[in-house]
Formats: sequence, structure tokens, C-alpha cells
Amino acid sequence: MRATVMYRAGDVRVEDVPDARIVDPADAVVRVTRACICGSDLWPYASMEPSDSGESMGHEAICVVEDIGSQVSMIKRGDVVVMPFAHSDGTCAYCHEGLPTACVHVGFFGNNGLNGAQAEALRIPYADGTLYPLPVGEDDALMPSLLTLSDVMGTGHHAAVVSKVAPGKRAAVVGDGAVGLCAVIAAKRLGAEQIIIMGRHPDRLALAREYGATDVVSERGEEAVERVRELTGGEGVHSVLECVGHGASMETAIGIARPGGAVGRVGVPQHTEIPGSFPAFFGNITVGGGPAPVRAYLDELLPDILEGRIEPGRVFDRTVGLDGVPDGYRAMADRESIKVLVTP
Ligand SMILES: [Zn+2]
Ligand SMILES: [Zn+2]
Repeated sequence: MRATVMYRAGDVRVEDVPDARIVDPADAVVRVTRACICGSDLWPYASMEPSDSGESMGHEAICVVEDIGSQVSMIKRGDVVVMPFAHSDGTCAYCHEGLPTACVHVGFFGNNGLNGAQAEALRIPYADGTLYPLPVGEDDALMPSLLTLSDVMGTGHHAAVVSKVAPGKRAAVVGDGAVGLCAVIAAKRLGAEQIIIMGRHPDRLALAREYGATDVVSERGEEAVERVRELTGGEGVHSVLECVGHGASMETAIGIARPGGAVGRVGVPQHTEIPGSFPAFFGNITVGGGPAPVRAYLDELLPDILEGRIEPGRVFDRTVGLDGVPDGYRAMADRESIKVLVTP
């Protein structure tokens, strides 16, 4: 089968690899019908050290179940399923508490030897706990939006939940990538009255406005903090949805939070320390977040997509086949494309 492998920064190849197969009785093997390239794939694309074996890439997909192990009882062959970016057993205490990304059997696709989803097929550990069957056919018109449930829509929602977005409150979204845009949808969905999007790409900001952003701030650093204060009667916002992961964006996030407010961070941190400790302390600002438990959010988010209330699939502005994946990375890294959909 064909799959995407990254060998070093800027070197992404689509190659023949061994076929996906059942290894453990709790596994399924799925055929990938839709996958995509993530903003987080751009970190190794920019900085990965050379590797002889390479890294299998991709962690977001819609799939059709082709085969199941002897212990799989809920997932059936032929099911059309969402593959969350992490696998989880569905049975441990953390899974029951709605935090499957802390599962005692968690693993992240496209990492640590687990195969990636920018491929024709892949093996899914703990298939019953991980996969989520969809009530639609594999070529349903809603596929782009359904695909976002495997990561970016659930991740934007997580930022909104952790930052305590609530009706009538003020929110700001730091970052205008696909996660930031989905975070705008999530803030609107949870009733925020004012939603400030912070970014500087005109096409993305236009989509953010369509998704419900009420204000745009394109300044950075201290100027951005000043501008948000102007827009919020000098107070700052109750909820900050941090969707970038840089030290500078985190510092801005804390700088624009209202005393007593919260920052929900979902951008994979590219720094080892959280900046802004002093203002966060004296403002009693809660800082939380982490890998989004997207599997646990599916019950809540799926009906909104099926019934047309939200359209997160509009973040995809380019579609490629598997052979187009290397150029898809380039297009996203060059900011030519917001997010690339892959049809293997
Ligand atoms: Zn992702
Ligand atoms: Zn678990």
C-alpha cells in the first residue's frame, strides 16, 4: 500500500510500505477515504532532523472498516468511521471521564511507530474505543466537515470549553489557522457575545467573520494587547482560545485575558515554559488545555454538522490525491492554503 513518510524537514515522500494488517485482536484495519494535512504536521516539516526510517505522517481521517480482530464487537466491517487523532480503549477511568487523550492505552497516529493516516490504509489499535461510526455513506457531501471532527473542530471546541466560553461573554481566538477558525465556530456555538480573531491572513480572517468573529486584531505583541483592551472597554476578554503554540502567542493570550478569565491552549507548545506567569498570577487567570479529547466531543458536535448548523469543512481550500501530498505540505507551509484535504 501507499503511505506518506517524512524523512527530514521539507522532505515528504509517498511510498510503498507494508500493508496494514491486524496485529492485536482489538485492532481494525481501515481504508482511508479522506485524510488531511494538519498545522501540527508543519512543525516537523520545518525542523525534523534527518531520519533513515522516516516518520509515517497523518492523524486525521474518515475511513471505511475493512477488517476487524477477534475481540472487536462494536465496530463492523463496512462501517464509515471518524478516526480521532489519538487511539483510546474506551474503558479506563480517563475514557469514562471524557479525557480519552489521557487513556492508559493512548497513542497518537503518525508517531512512535504507529502508522499515519495520509495513506491508503492503516491499523487502528483499540478499534471499539477509538473509532466512531457515522450514519452517512462514504461519499456524503458533508465529508469535509465530518473530517474536521477527527481533530481541528474538536480541538477548537476544546479551547472554548477549557477557556470557559459562555453566553454573553467576551472571547478572543489567537491564531487564524484551521484550529483557530474552528475555535471561532466553537465560541459562537457556546454563546460568546464578542469574538475577536487575532491573525493577519485576509482570506482566513474573512472566513472567521463568516463563522461569527465580531472583531479582527492583526497587530502583534504589546500592540495586540492594547488593541484588544480598546475593544473590550479596557478589561480584556473572559476567554482566550490559544491556537498557535508559540511563546509569543501565549504571552499575548495571557496579556488579553480579563482578571478571573481563562486561557485554553490547544496549539502544540513549541516552548518549554509558559510565559506570562506574573500577569497570570496577579490576574487570577486560569491557564489550561492540552491534546483535545476529540473522541469525547463527537456526540455533541456531530448533530450540528449533520443538521447544517456549523460548516467547519470550509477550512479546506485545496484537495489532492495521495501523490499531491508533498506539494500539499509545501502549499500549507507557504500559506498558500489554509488546510489540504487528501483523497487517497
Ligand atoms: Zn491535526
Ligand atoms: Zn482509556
